[in-house]
Amino acid sequence: MIGLVCLSSLIHLGTKVAKVDLSVVKAGFIKTNDFSKVTKPNKDNLFTPIFVPPPQDPADYQVGALGYEEFDIADLEDVKLEKAALVMLVRNTEIHKARLSIRSVEDRFNKFFHYPWIFLNDQTFSTEFIRLTQGLVSGNATYGEIPKQHWSLPHYIDRQSMREKMKKMASKNVVYGASESYRHMCRYFSGFFWRHPLLDDLDYYWRVEPDTQLFCDITYDPFKFMRESNKTYGFVINLKEIAPTIETLWPTVQQFVRSHPEHVHPNNAHEFIVNGHKSILDGKYNLCHFWSNFEIAALSMYRSQAYRDYFDALDQTGKFFYERWGDAPVHSIAASLFLDKEEIHWFYDMGYRHSPFTHCPEGKEEFHNSGKCFCNPQQNFDRSGHSCTREYRDMRKNLPTPGLRSAKMLNGARDRSMIVRKKVKLGQRPLKLLPGRAGAEQLRMLEEDSYALE
Ligand code: GDP
Ligand code: MN
Repeated sequence: MIGLVCLSSLIHLGTKVAKVDLSVVKAGFIKTNDFSKVTKPNKDNLFTPIFVPPPQDPADYQVGALGYEEFDIADLEDVKLEKAALVMLVRNTEIHKARLSIRSVEDRFNKFFHYPWIFLNDQTFSTEFIRLTQGLVSGNATYGEIPKQHWSLPHYIDRQSMREKMKKMASKNVVYGASESYRHMCRYFSGFFWRHPLLDDLDYYWRVEPDTQLFCDITYDPFKFMRESNKTYGFVINLKEIAPTIETLWPTVQQFVRSHPEHVHPNNAHEFIVNGHKSILDGKYNLCHFWSNFEIAALSMYRSQAYRDYFDALDQTGKFFYERWGDAPVHSIAASLFLDKEEIHWFYDMGYRHSPFTHCPEGKEEFHNSGKCFCNPQQNFDRSGHSCTREYRDMRKNLPTPGLRSAKMLNGARDRSMIVRKKVKLGQRPLKLLPGRAGAEQLRMLEEDSYALE
């Protein structure tokens, strides 16, 4: 492995693996991997059987980064990294799920860039966890423990009342209804992860969860893309929240907007989250949010006064615990109200799966014939009635959509990434591939070379 592992003072080696709260209620949620099953009308699952038609025309969806400069092997030696890291909150017991995600991010992207990884945990990381992750990362890895005050019940929470409400939610089969640890996790991602000292020097982070997969080669630096195109919040999947978990979130947000109108951006994206084309104060929350298990975002969003005031206002209600407010709607509402709508970016080109949903880019030429992706576009969640793609498109209606590169160029990108792989294998200086036949010949010779060296 190329990267050296930097053991910060926050690492604690040799301590016991933490006990983990397994009392998680999973009932009431879709548990199948088969998309065709979950989209059938069924009153027991969360889907409505409406299909959003797939994009007809590339300009219909925001492809954004696809048209963005892809890395060229000749430039790889002097790549200037952004102040960014891959961030994973994870339990020791999830080590093998974590390994799956790390491997996936490394294979599809990071083995060319070597961005650092930051692992966070409310417990001390086990030696085993550290050993088994160090071998997979191509950049530095640091392991941070979360300060206790960021992962405990605030003093104003009435435990008895919380337990009763949790029981009630569990009896209605709400996913994680009875889990206190899940509530700490959601509150941590809403109000604290960005205050962890390991993130202090960063401008951007990419949130990676255990047990996730990327399906497409990422042949550009998404952090650089974010900075150069003034993007602040990037997502892959959007969907509707489970209503009973956020019963009073929207009225609380409206109250906040009433007392802090100065924080609302004049060109905000509220159409994405407010029902019936209404205003923030008149409308209801349509439950749409960006699925936060994948995020590529600027930390400036959270460090802003608007976000801090917003989080404090939410937190003092105690509803992260009395209800079960998720960090996904909390982040998404903030992004939709405090940012310019143009600062939000859909990484449409990133095939991604976090059970039970997959985003698989559609566009045979661009994504599939080119060999860039290997997911099944039939399983693309954007087509489900439970997705908020329709609302997202509506919100972006009058915004310019960046153009799509021609399939030819993307095919070229595939060839280039093949060369990069060879480079890694052979440890040679990269070659610039010539256009057309000459390039194919170069590639053939390079392949022969690699056999010769083996
Ligand atoms: P889901 O995706 O909503 O089903 O929730 P997950 O169980 O995947 O949790 C979300 C993220 O928080 C994942 O990265 C988990 O590894 C992490 N996580 C959840 N609960 C805990 C916890 O109690 N401790 C730690 N260290 N991480 C947690
Ligand atoms: Mn998860």
